[in-house]
Amino acid sequence: MDLASYADLAVDLVNTRRPHIDELHDLDALRALLADRPHFTGRVARRDLDAMRELRGLLRAIFEAAADGGTDDAVRRLNTLLIRQPIHPQIVRHDDGTWHLHCNEHGSVPDRYAARAAMGLAAEIDAHGVARLGLCRSRPCGRAFYVRSPGADRRYCSVRCAARARASAAPRSGPPRVTVPHRDGGQ
Ligand SMILES: [Zn+2]
Repeated sequence: MDLASYADLAVDLVNTRRPHIDELHDLDALRALLADRPHFTGRVARRDLDAMRELRGLLRAIFEAAADGGTDDAVRRLNTLLIRQPIHPQIVRHDDGTWHLHCNEHGSVPDRYAARAAMGLAAEIDAHGVARLGLCRSRPCGRAFYVRSPGADRRYCSVRCAARARASAAPRSGPPRVTVPHRDGGQ
């Protein structure tokens, strides 16, 4: 497992809440978030939903701090989460005979989710600092994301949002709006 890819868990959870939208409003919504993710099978209850929503706020604050240039604040918040949510790494042999580093195979769904999301952000920051973490400035998007290539525009989550921001900033007599398909997944 590429540890940095666990940062996707942080992004996906944070983005269940955006301006005027809260997608994580009940247990079915939580089950939908966890579906197709192999590490999060098992029952979830109301307290798990509450814990996931609390975790979402903690993770969002890390992205907000990073996007505002508050490097020390972002790292302090992440370290607080890492202390609160201890990581239990384990080496696991897969069916194909290869060995992989897993973590927190046991515990509640929110604990497993928090451990992986925090470890993913820690690996990301270890490799690149907070420079790749961002919150989309395009209204009403506001999505959290991390850019995967150096030099990419960190202000917007996607080509579509960057184009929208440019269009709204352009004078009315300017060129017609450019419509670009939303770039899903690779934000
Ligand atoms: Zn956006």
